[in-house]
Amino acid sequence: MKLGIVFSIIVLLVFITDKLPAQKQTLTVDEKEGILFMYEEEKLARDVYDSMFVKWEFNPFGHIRKSERMHMSEMKGLVKTYQLEDAVLKNQDKAGVFNNASLQALYNDLVAKGSLSSTDALRAGALIEEVDIRDLKERKAKAVQKDILEAYDFLIMGSENHLRAFCRNLKGAGVIYEPAVLSKADFDKIIKAENEMGGCNH
Ligand code: MN
Ligand code: MN
Repeated sequence: MKLGIVFSIIVLLVFITDKLPAQKQTLTVDEKEGILFMYEEEKLARDVYDSMFVKWEFNPFGHIRKSERMHMSEMKGLVKTYQLEDAVLKNQDKAGVFNNASLQALYNDLVAKGSLSSTDALRAGALIEEVDIRDLKERKAKAVQKDILEAYDFLIMGSENHLRAFCRNLKGAGVIYEPAVLSKADFDKIIKAENEMGGCNH
């Protein structure tokens, strides 16, 4: 082969390699599953609260649903970083539509229950936050990457604030909420904790 051709090939290879997206650290199967699942679970929170806000028009749903948008974009950021398939985008981010069958069933169930009364809507909210905290902690225990762990911590802090907000509102309506997913000890610890930085705004 002529030297010129060899040189051209080398130049071309260098050029192509340079244009390839930087490969991030390889994720474990659990880390990938965690990102995709939590992304859709944050969508579930957003979609249920949007629906409850339209139905009942009162505030815990008004500001918490905005916070869920931030949680979703936090997870979407990880989907992009690690070049995973964006299943939400595949469905055009349609409200109330989920790829995960158990999240779809949970959404249908909670919207139905939350539509019965404003107190039922608050109960549905508290349940979502309990489920979210449990699932985030489970995924966090199986993750290694720093950016994933940080995202989970941020979302857990938000969920704990939301859980307190829903319970506070229920209490105002004369209902003492009992945990359905978390242990009584974990639940009490969250409720008793002083409000963490930022209140319900994250
Ligand atoms: Mn959330
Ligand atoms: Mn939440």
